[in-house]
Amino acid sequence: MYVTHDPSTGRTDREYEQIRDVDGVLDTVTGGFATWRATDVAERARILVAIADAFDEHREELGKAITTEMGKLPDQAQGEVELAASIYRWYGEHGPALLEPESLDVPEARLNRVTYEPVGPLVGIMPWNYPYYQVARFAAPNLLLGNTVVLKHASICARSSAAIEKVQRAAGLPEDVFVNVYASSDTVAEMIADPRIKGVSLTGSEGAGAAVATVAAENLKPSVLELGGSDPLIILDADDLDELTETVGRARLSNCGQACNSPKRIFVPTQLEEDFLGRLKNLYEELTVGPAADEGTELGPLSSEDARDDVVEQVETAVRQGATLVTGGAAIDRPGAFMQPTILTGITEEMDAYREEIFGPVAMVYTYDSIDEAVRIANDTPFGLSGSVWGTDTERASEVAERLEVGMAYVNEHGTTLPGLPFGGVKRSGYGRELGRWGLTEFANVRLQRVS
Ligand code: NDP
Repeated sequence: MYVTHDPSTGRTDREYEQIRDVDGVLDTVTGGFATWRATDVAERARILVAIADAFDEHREELGKAITTEMGKLPDQAQGEVELAASIYRWYGEHGPALLEPESLDVPEARLNRVTYEPVGPLVGIMPWNYPYYQVARFAAPNLLLGNTVVLKHASICARSSAAIEKVQRAAGLPEDVFVNVYASSDTVAEMIADPRIKGVSLTGSEGAGAAVATVAAENLKPSVLELGGSDPLIILDADDLDELTETVGRARLSNCGQACNSPKRIFVPTQLEEDFLGRLKNLYEELTVGPAADEGTELGPLSSEDARDDVVEQVETAVRQGATLVTGGAAIDRPGAFMQPTILTGITEEMDAYREEIFGPVAMVYTYDSIDEAVRIANDTPFGLSGSVWGTDTERASEVAERLEVGMAYVNEHGTTLPGLPFGGVKRSGYGRELGRWGLTEFANVRLQRVS
């Protein structure tokens, strides 16, 4: 049984029955695959555009579902629905051309042709932090390619995962092409091991990623993992420090700090330290924290009280190990999963916080004397998702950004996600790429036909 709670109030929202007929679901998506792969790509693309239209049309009600189940502020929730819609639309509009067969100019044969073909039913295991966007990133390219999907969403997202299935079906996606299930980790492992499933994609924690990748490897199935991050954001200098602090400080708190690619570690040159920290402290202390749906709320709850308690404990550990708490650090004493916006400084190599991802409203600020030192510490992390460099001299900032060991490096922005750009990381941030043309071939049979 899944039991969902509203993190803004702590109250139980709903209960959901877990799947019983795993076999039936796998038969369904296997049967669906036979017809879906044979469906003309133009028709698959048309349905994706219809799904995009449906997401846009139901933006408000879809947004409300995630405000209730994981505490996202309404404007961010609706923004996420729009982003998901843009991904379905992008694959609907650009995908068919990317799947055109290619003839390779290789000698000694009449023909060397490469086609992109679907592999079969896939399992998508998705997290609660961006319930619509994360699913769109996995589902849209694979549906276009002709694969079918079993969605196992985070258990706290039972409402939005059902909504995704409903919206897609209403837009014309056949019922046997995408099936939402509520399932335990054991059931998911059983599905991945089943010969009818041909691959698995997971976005979530390192632990879940390792568990799922192990089952996939034991059964020789491909996997894509999009895991955590502890992204560095390096400030070189600033024309307008007020504006920069506002942008960077709020970016860290977007989605209550619960994004894999949130700028969790902010690097500031020593000469700017005092001015930057003073401004960031003011910003964080003046923010309105409250229920996600309330007008005027700038920082909502974390996704659950357990998640909040974990983050508070990480901050307490950092302070016990010698870090400085500039502001915040505590749970807020009211029903729900609220926490004060927090700033930590003085983090050193010996501390857990130096290596760990902190998935909540906590900015870790590092000061540096030389760029080499900033880059060394920025790269001295188990993660490698994204990173950014901010400065008035774009060329210099770009040179520094080149040195970041990440899957996505930005200059004067952080974490921009667009349907046509690749998304993914290196090191313990996972492997494989989503979005753009790269997302289309992770679960494709890149098939050669050669005629002598
Ligand atoms: P999890 O990794 O546990 O959850 C993500 C998804 O994986 C959920 O659907 C979850 O299901 C599922 N899952 C968990 N364990 C297994 C397993 N053994 N086999 C199959 N599926 C599994 O994330 P949490 O919610 O526990 O968050 C913990 C941490 O994960 C965060 O603090 C953050 O560091 C990281 N995280 C990273 C995200 C990202 O965007 N990269 C997103 C979310 C979390 P269920 O909900 O039913 O447990």
